[in-house]
Amino acid sequence: MKNYIPYGKQSIERADIDAVIEVLASDFITQGPAIVNFEQACCERLNAQHAIAVSSATAALHISCLALGLKAGDIVWTTPNTFVASANCARYCGAVIDFIDIDPITYNLDVKLLKLKLEAAALKNALPKIVIPVHFAGQACDMAEISQLAKEYGFYVIEDASHAIGGSYHSAPIGNCRYSDITVFSFHPVKIITTGEGGLILTNNQELHQKLLRLRTHGITRNEALLRENHGPWYYEQLELGFNYRMTDIQAALGQSQLKRLTEFIQKRQLLATRYTEKLQHLPVITPTVLNARQSAWHLYVIMLDLKHMKYDRLKIFNDLRRNHIGVNVHYIPVYKQPYYQAHGFKNYTLPVTENYYERALTLPLYPTLTFTQQDHVINLLEQAFQ
Ligand SMILES: *Cc1c(COP(=O)(O)O)cnc(C)c1O
Repeated sequence: MKNYIPYGKQSIERADIDAVIEVLASDFITQGPAIVNFEQACCERLNAQHAIAVSSATAALHISCLALGLKAGDIVWTTPNTFVASANCARYCGAVIDFIDIDPITYNLDVKLLKLKLEAAALKNALPKIVIPVHFAGQACDMAEISQLAKEYGFYVIEDASHAIGGSYHSAPIGNCRYSDITVFSFHPVKIITTGEGGLILTNNQELHQKLLRLRTHGITRNEALLRENHGPWYYEQLELGFNYRMTDIQAALGQSQLKRLTEFIQKRQLLATRYTEKLQHLPVITPTVLNARQSAWHLYVIMLDLKHMKYDRLKIFNDLRRNHIGVNVHYIPVYKQPYYQAHGFKNYTLPVTENYYERALTLPLYPTLTFTQQDHVINLLEQAFQ
């Protein structure tokens, strides 16, 4: 569509294209050296010991749950203010999912409520095996507190950092797994850096690393130390039921080229976010708050409409902007409202802060190639919609 301004999109430049072409002309377009190179570059940039590149963040979440031993009947908790994949990974393993209401300032899962829910669950012998915090819009959750609770109550932590590559927490990169067992990133084109489709798993645990490598490729190993028998150089063994969740070398080359631009992307997003916040002060909206000791990766710029001081509802504002070719969006429909989850135990389920947030949230366009002129156009149309 002409002049359409989406809420997010990728930035691909000549260097990115050249990196892809180089792999296309090489001997390996999958299972070649580009994957390992990309994984190493991610480890260095994000300060983690092991990286596993996979076909999507959804695949990453799935095999992360499996690697942590998640089984049918186990319990997983996450935030309702996320993409469905953060919860679906538990369901793939036959686990039971539940949600923790969100914090009204950051829209991340509320750690005070997590603590209360853990206390109640301990009494009923119904503690979660895994908790999956999501760094909403690119801002880290209270990871130090979550990790403390994980030790106290004995659950694993998978950070769904799909929004957050390039963000930091206490001056260290999100992805270093200091406060978690595993961190997962998404490289879908609306996210911070892209490989087309793609995801990444980071961990500092060597055993998890080996397990995740196997689960990515059918459960197969060629590692001699793990083989029961060895018939010769062709020999491999399938030790468990894995998947084909591999990333191609074509994608990895794009990823590595994009990773070089990560700092530039974050700076541009930060600049645009600051600019929105300054220019929206006179409107009846709440602009995002980033807490101390955090730097957001600014995947999303979400405002909350002050409905009490408005003539109109969100739908009117949303439709006005869409009619003018602005791809505003709403992140997210609470996961428990999805028909699938309604049919799986969440029929009369409601979390008050999440509900209030969902009624009022609006995502404005934010991506590195958004120009100031385009951003001002969005702001003008938003002002008009409120009049
Ligand atoms: C995008 C996203 C995913 C899924 O990522 P894919 O790479 O598309 O599978 C999972 N969790 C969150 C929070 C996301 O935003």
